[in-house]
Amino acid sequence: MSAYHPLTEQEAIQIAGSLEGFFPAGAALQCREIGDGNLNLVFHITDSISGKSLIMKQALPYAKVVGESWPLTLDRARIESEKLLLEGKLAPGLVPVVYKYDAELALTVMEDLSDHIIMRQGLIAGTRYPKFADDISTFIARTLFFTSDLGMNQQDKKMQVKAFINPELCKITEDLIFDDPYTNSPNNSFDPAIQDAAEALWQDNGLHFEVALLREKFLTNAQALLHGDLHTGSVFVTPASTKVIDPEFAYYGPIGFDIGAVIANLLLNFAGQEHWTADADQRGDFRRYLTDTVRDVWNLFDKKFRALWDEHGLDRIASETPGYKDYYMNRLLQDAVGFAGCKIVRRIVGLSHVIDIDRIPDAAVREKAQRLALTIGTSLILNNRKTQSIEEVIELANSAA
Ligand code: ADP
Ligand code: MG
Ligand code: MG
Ligand code: MG
Repeated sequence: MSAYHPLTEQEAIQIAGSLEGFFPAGAALQCREIGDGNLNLVFHITDSISGKSLIMKQALPYAKVVGESWPLTLDRARIESEKLLLEGKLAPGLVPVVYKYDAELALTVMEDLSDHIIMRQGLIAGTRYPKFADDISTFIARTLFFTSDLGMNQQDKKMQVKAFINPELCKITEDLIFDDPYTNSPNNSFDPAIQDAAEALWQDNGLHFEVALLREKFLTNAQALLHGDLHTGSVFVTPASTKVIDPEFAYYGPIGFDIGAVIANLLLNFAGQEHWTADADQRGDFRRYLTDTVRDVWNLFDKKFRALWDEHGLDRIASETPGYKDYYMNRLLQDAVGFAGCKIVRRIVGLSHVIDIDRIPDAAVREKAQRLALTIGTSLILNNRKTQSIEEVIELANSAA
């Protein structure tokens, strides 16, 4: 069974049964494939007798996109499992435990988090997650600091950059986030009702200038080992727990990209609240919860990253030069703001959307949410290099709503 092929549920059960010491003898294993099947298979395997369970994620050698498929390296399964293991060391308790990685089958066996919910779904249902800002800020501060030139041996870091080279997955981001939305690309997909707004994006040279700068940063700035796809669909939550999954896009890139992903997806939900909370007062409350979370994520990240730098900083001149740390942190904020804007825009006009917006049933309400998201996204992009405080992001979202 070892040569690569997409597994059947029966084969997945066989592999799970042969994992040493996991399921007890005589286990009655059942398996269900629960992934969406675009890039990966996700098998959920349970033993009805012991109640034990696990997840097996297998990479497919292609991505299904607009009815076609394009080849996609299986090496991303190695990257995902290695990144998960590293995250588990740097940010204990905030990722699923990896039980096994099979290189031949491009397969990662990991902890079953089915007692959690995907955060995007939770927010749509109106649930608040009081631990999220604290947990995700710990996750990003620790995984990014300790893989950067500030917090790790700089020669070891260069070898790590090499181990996490991820050109095919990066190209998806480079095309879908930093190019297609700003031109009349066949990869784009948007509601005909907002044709005018999409065309405005294609013609805005001031916007393109900022996107080109952000794209350059994504292409060239090997600042830290990113998660690379840190949207609310990659976060499992309960009110008391946070677990980050799906780091197959990991590579050495600009720190602001991971932070921006979190902010963007909170603000996409903010836009979607046009529908998800019908009552105006309650909508205001939930939006305040979302913007409070944006504020807390940044402020807690800033505090934790600085504390790690104070305690564990290895780079003498970066650590000791007055003003450098403040400059560095403000630049991270600006990058996060710019990347957040790009990530919002692509979810409205690009290839891949979010259910916070697309599942809005009423066409007029959906259009309003889409236009609100585009206003927030483009304003973040246009203002990114001027930003001095996270409060500006919140004011910008509130004044657009
Ligand atoms: P993809 O890279 O294809 O998006 P994900 O890793 O995001 O794959 O997983 C897809 C879905 O599979 C998740 O949204 C979740 O429903 C389920 N899933 C993935 N990992 C786990 C896990 N460790 N525990 C429970 N469910 C999981
Ligand atoms: Mg998926
Ligand atoms: Mg993925
Ligand atoms: Mg995913």
